[in-house]
Amino acid sequence: MAAEDESRVLGDVPTGLLIGGSWQDATGGERFDVTDPSTGKVLVSVADGRPEDGIRALDAAAAAQESWGRTSPRSRSDVLRRTWELVQERKDDIALLMTLEMGKPLAESHGEVTYGGEFLRWFSEEAVRITGRYGVNPEGTGRTIVSQHPVGPCYLITPWNFPLAMATRKIAPALAAGCTVIVKPAELTPLTTLYVAKLFEEAGVPAGVLNVVPTTKAGALTEPVLADSRLRKLSFTGSTPVGVKLLQQAAGNVLRTSMELGGNAPFIVFEDADLDAAVEGAMLAKFRNIGQACTASNRFVVHESVADEFAAKLTERVQALPIGRGTDEGVRIGPLINEAAIEKAERLVKDAVERGATERIGGGRVDRPGTFFSPTVLDHVKPGSDILKTEIFGPVVAVSRFSSEEEAVRIANDTEFGLVSYVFTRDLARGQRMIELLETGMMGLNVGVISNASAPFGGVKQSGVGREGGFEGIHEYLSTKYTMTPSPFA
Ligand code: NAP
Repeated sequence: MAAEDESRVLGDVPTGLLIGGSWQDATGGERFDVTDPSTGKVLVSVADGRPEDGIRALDAAAAAQESWGRTSPRSRSDVLRRTWELVQERKDDIALLMTLEMGKPLAESHGEVTYGGEFLRWFSEEAVRITGRYGVNPEGTGRTIVSQHPVGPCYLITPWNFPLAMATRKIAPALAAGCTVIVKPAELTPLTTLYVAKLFEEAGVPAGVLNVVPTTKAGALTEPVLADSRLRKLSFTGSTPVGVKLLQQAAGNVLRTSMELGGNAPFIVFEDADLDAAVEGAMLAKFRNIGQACTASNRFVVHESVADEFAAKLTERVQALPIGRGTDEGVRIGPLINEAAIEKAERLVKDAVERGATERIGGGRVDRPGTFFSPTVLDHVKPGSDILKTEIFGPVVAVSRFSSEEEAVRIANDTEFGLVSYVFTRDLARGQRMIELLETGMMGLNVGVISNASAPFGGVKQSGVGREGGFEGIHEYLSTKYTMTPSPFA
């Protein structure tokens, strides 16, 4: 990728706060740098929102709520559809921007443009399908009317790992439902959100409907916004500890909440599985986004009769993964997001090895500038190892073994998380049993990627509350009203 492309794309990113339809400096004029994790170099600096800027954004969202909530569903749909078209037109630039600020290989960024863009198209189609119902009460004396209404101004917090998709998965259903929003992107990756906000403007979104406030002071900016009674909803994607804290704050204002939190996905390979398909699925489920996905398989739980063969085949594939800057041709493993991510992966690998795991390949930091960790396969990982309890968020495979279906289910469910599970089996009845027995919000049955705009994404247990995408996604931004009327024949 040519250096001129990089500077042109970076030059196209608006770097202010978007509040009430205008791009502004932060109060006090502070800015912060956004860096490329593959080089450590500064890409560009953006306005650093202060707590008062969060409230100004809420002022704008609250002022725009009534008129946006009353626009026709078709006009809201048109804004989303037009934004989707603009994302398609600028797909190369958006993909490059994501790779620059987050590090993932360019091919994966293109994949995210398709996936993340699809939420705009899906919810442009859902905007015109919000329905209610009309019914006769059992006594026949009354008529019940059930209608759906926008929840009101929403505060949307997104993580750094999928800079486009995590934003569109919230903005699109909120706008489709008739809600105005304030988006607080992750400090590490605000550029994609800012760029897409500009596309929304080009698509005709009215002033105040979409506000974007990057900041280095997430906690200080968020607290007063959540405490303000004009806000009606919090939607958060990020880690479980931060989610728990935000739920506590949201309780003070009895806010509607959607929480997409951490995971600890089991990847179960039964003895009857198609092993090549399982290895293919494992490569996707583990190494997509350099392992930095909430859906990343964290624990490979493999039947003892096929574990050696599975681990050997997987190791062979892992050995061939090209490491490098995400913009370079053919790279599959880019950098981890920062030093803390490297240290975490190192600590988890060390603990597993000290407890008896064998290292088939990899195991540490790559000796080159940037924050690179070599793809790693650990085998015979022992129960009690930290790596089995902690979301790894890096390119490390941890294989352990089981001997019976009951044991596999027990191991899979032995976690406070419940986002996604992967199961590989050729036995249909066993697959169906897994659907019923695994404590999980989503399942990949003989597939390694489950994300799709048409499907309800979300978890159970400490992986979250609510669903994004699918028919369910828009209902997170609608409130139900019921009206009783007398029978017209009384
Ligand atoms: P994180 O540290 O929880 O941060 C997520 C977002 O919350 C960021 O925008 C962050 O801002 C903000 N934040 C942090 N502390 C805050 C506070 N006190 N008040 C308000 N906002 C606050 O998570 P992350 O490291 O970015 O993302 C990785 C985590 O997200 C993993 O656990 C992963 O599983 C989870 N995730 C879940 C899903 C899902 O759909 N379930 C999808 C993707 C990721 P700053 O950037 O400024 O710190």
